[in-house]
This record gives sequence, structure tokens and C-alpha cells, in this order.
Amino acid sequence: MIYDVIVIGAGPAGLTAGIYTRTKLMSTLIIDAGSVGGQLTSIYPEKDIRNFPCFKNIQAKDLSNKLRTQVESMNCEIHEKEAVEEISDNDGKFLIKTNIKEYLTKSVIIAIGIGIFKPKEIGCEGEINFKDKGLSYVMPPRDELVGKKVVVFGGGNSAIEIAMMANSVADTVIVHRRSAFRADESNVTDLIKSGVKTIMPAELKSINGTDFVESVTLKVDEKTVELPANTVIISIGTPSNLKNLKKWGLETTENGLIEVKHDMSTSRHGIFACGDAIDYPGKCRRIVAGCGEACTAALSACEFVRKHRP
Ligand code: NAP
Repeated sequence: MIYDVIVIGAGPAGLTAGIYTRTKLMSTLIIDAGSVGGQLTSIYPEKDIRNFPCFKNIQAKDLSNKLRTQVESMNCEIHEKEAVEEISDNDGKFLIKTNIKEYLTKSVIIAIGIGIFKPKEIGCEGEINFKDKGLSYVMPPRDELVGKKVVVFGGGNSAIEIAMMANSVADTVIVHRRSAFRADESNVTDLIKSGVKTIMPAELKSINGTDFVESVTLKVDEKTVELPANTVIISIGTPSNLKNLKKWGLETTENGLIEVKHDMSTSRHGIFACGDAIDYPGKCRRIVAGCGEACTAALSACEFVRKHRP
């Protein structure tokens, strides 16, 4: 079989691309090295998402399930736990080699998000000793935090949302290096209302304990402050980890992300891209924006197939 479109990545952008290629009745396969949902299920499944249209509040894993149901209802194939290794030109089509199989397709949409999650480390004393011993870079399951003392580091939307979730079951403090948060104003307002304690500006000097985290040492106003903690969550950004882009022959920006034109076309004719893996001036890192780009990428891919590979 020759697919019209193969989408690489089954996060919200990849799934949305599948919905839109199926509106044009293009045969579509979505392949993901992990599981459906991307960051929604792998990094923050229990997070409440409050800025996706239609849902005042929806848990990340529920949003992923709803997208999956919709995609499957449109007869879009999904293969999980299959990693794409090569995308080569083959007689006017693309040959996609995975760790399992080979596929022929007329066009490709890349929606691989930030790649395999690689935590951004803060580089303080003790950090390497306490990984998985009370130190985490993502939100731990909520029930593991009940009754704990939690300290969250970071000032972006991720850190603030993690702090509010943790605070629903645990005594929580958020520590940020500047005196103003980077996160959206509504998130900051909700954080203040939630009763999460804030310490800012402050610097994390060390994470301390014997077998497990017991406290953190901060520098606040030139003074050293020790704060008791059983759980430390460092959330200071999500760097991309996209090692395949050069191998797949795609031009990247200075940030190492895929360069796209306004129609989401990449430097390779017939390959389109969307979501967190791409970059352009004014790029907005929100789920809904990734889904919008996915619609454009999907309709561009369909147009490409009609015009060049009918
Ligand atoms: P982010 O927006 O890049 O924020 C990272 C935070 O960590 C910043 O406050 C930064 O401080 C701080 N930081 C960075 N390096 C540090 C270091 N070495 N030591 C101490 N602090 C450090 O990252 P993010 O929150 O993971 O979000 C990533 C993107 O996804 C953003 O565009 C965000 O808006 C988006 N996002 C959106 C939502 C939503 O729509 N609800 C939710 C999550 C994420 P400075 O502020 O001083 O630079």
C-alpha cells in the first residue's frame, strides 16, 4: 500500500493533522515512537488544561483520549511504539523506515514535539544525588504527594501549573529566580489565589538529605535560607531533543527546530511540519496553536499530493 500521508508523532498536533487529512479522505498513518498523546500523556497526564477551547478544564490524558477517539473514528491508522529512523526519496515517493517496518507514502507531516523528554537541570549541589529520590523534573502522580512538603522551582506556565496541582494535596512553595513570573497573567492570578507560598527572587544553592530529599538551601536577599522539603520539582523549561532532523535532511533554525514556510512546508519538497518541533518568527507554544499549524500542514500536504503525486 502507498499512503497519501504519513504523520510522524501522535501528540495533539499529529492527531489533529490526521483529522484534517482524513477530511480530504487521504489515506493516513500516524506513527509514534512512544504512545498517543505526546506530552499530554508522557509528561503531565494529570495536569488540568484550562486554555483549550471547548473545555473550561480538562485533564491532559482526557484531552488525549478524546483526540484519539476522534482520529480513530475517521479511519486514520495509528501505530504506537514504532520509531521512524529514515525518510528517503523513492521513485517519486517517500520510503519511511521504522525500527519495525518500511512504508511508502506520497507526503509526510512531522509532528514530533520536543522529541524524547530530556529534563533541563538547574546545576545545583546535590542535584545528581536525588534524582528519583524526591527530586523530579515533571509532576509526580498526585497521590504520591499527599501530605508532603513540596518545593517547585521555575517561573513559567509549567512550574506554576505544577505548583497549583501539588498544592491541592501538599504544602507547596514555588521559588523563582526573578521577582516577576514569566507565566501567563491568569495563571499568576490563580497561583496567588491558590495559597501556594512564593519565594522570589531566590537562587537554589543545594538539595540536601541522606537517602532522600530532606531540605533545600536557597539564597534569598544575600541570606542563606534552609527550607524543609520531601519533594523537589525543577521545571525550568523543556529543551528540545531532536536528533533526527539533520539526518532527515531538514533545514533547522538556530534553535535546532524545523524551519517552515507559512504553509508549514519544510526544506524538503513534500514534507510538512507542525507543533513544538517547528520554529518561525512569532511562534506560540500553546497546544491550540500546534493544532492550528497541524490543520495548515495537513491541508498543504493534501494539496501537494493532489498536485504532484495524484
Ligand atoms: P518557560 O516558559 O521557558 O519558563 C522557564 C522558567 O524557568 C522561566 O521562568 C525561567 O526564568 C526559569 N529558568 C530557566 N532557566 C533557569 C535556571 N537555570 N535557574 C532558575 N530558573 C530558570 O518554560 P515552561 O514553563 O516549561 O513552558 C514552555 C513553553 O510552553 C512556554 O512557551 C509556555 O508558555 C508553554 N506552556 C504553556 C502552557 C499553557 O498554555 N497553559 C503550559 C505549560 C507551558 P526567567 O523567567 O527568569 O527566564
